[in-house]
Amino acid sequence: MVEVRNLKKHFVLRGRGLWGKKILVKAVDDVSFSVSEGQSVAIVGESGSGKSTLIRCINGLIKPTSGEVYLDGQRVARLKGKEYREKVARKVQMVFQDPTTSLNPRLKVFDIVVEPVLAQGKMSKSQLKDLVNDLLEKVGLDPELSSRYPGELSGGQCQRVAIARALSVNPKILLLDEPTSSLDVSVQAQVLQLLNELRHKFNLTYIFVSHDLGVVRNVSEMILVMYLGKIVEVGPVERVIDEPIHPYTKLLIDSMFVPDPNLEMRKPSTFGEPSTAVNEGCKFRSRCPFSIKECEFYDMNLIKVSENRFVSCIRWKEVS
Ligand code: ADP
Ligand code: MG
Repeated sequence: MVEVRNLKKHFVLRGRGLWGKKILVKAVDDVSFSVSEGQSVAIVGESGSGKSTLIRCINGLIKPTSGEVYLDGQRVARLKGKEYREKVARKVQMVFQDPTTSLNPRLKVFDIVVEPVLAQGKMSKSQLKDLVNDLLEKVGLDPELSSRYPGELSGGQCQRVAIARALSVNPKILLLDEPTSSLDVSVQAQVLQLLNELRHKFNLTYIFVSHDLGVVRNVSEMILVMYLGKIVEVGPVERVIDEPIHPYTKLLIDSMFVPDPNLEMRKPSTFGEPSTAVNEGCKFRSRCPFSIKECEFYDMNLIKVSENRFVSCIRWKEVS
């Protein structure tokens, strides 16, 4: 269904000052994976690990530096205009993190929901009306809300509108970029439940981006852990969360499930910050308590550890 092959997206940034040195940010750095029909794959990692860039390359919003994305065997990068709309936009839709910025505040819910449909072709007023009523019901909203503006709705309702909009063209794949991160915890649970129901009802394929491993456990079967543009661990969700192998995954999990919620959440201080300056060898080595000389030369290729489980750490046996 979705196949990502050796995908890279590099940004060149200029440092401070007139002659500031150019800095190369490898936002996505040689990533490969595939997702089969009806599967839900989660991509997790701290902010800045390249998750959003990666999924924006999948639907062609961003042009990759190199590598390929295939949807149903079709190369995304080659498609433009009408062909793009038919072969990509109809199959893949996206839901963003913050509905207050992703939904146009000047449009009514009705117009927001039908926008992707109208981009695909014409439809009569009454057909559109039926479609909107049907979609709003599917996402658990009162069809009456179609005449409201996003500013009149709660965060949870807005995110349901964004989901209805995404579903309007009957896509096969949803790319969900932190879709519940901006919501209150109780609302989060409801939206996650809705996403689960919709997936099973319509046999949707999800790529679900999150920095929250607790959320991911409820919505995905497989997990990809990203660190500075690289996939560092792949496996079934439960296994990866319960028995992480890569030191970075361990760090993510330790910092997430703290026994006392009043304790400082993120990053144990011994680990330090991610360093974008590290471009050779294992990118995690500056923070890793297990790093050795060889890590400076390791290209971070994934190593098969067991069925379905891969990790990019030459020290995985010592670490786990
Ligand atoms: P995540 O979604 O995991 O937080 P992003 O994909 O947003 O990560 O960003 C990955 C890296 O790429 C970050 O270092 C970010 O600053 C950089 N980046 C993202 N988009 C751009 C851009 N348009 N121009 C320059 N750098 C970018
Ligand atoms: Mg992001």
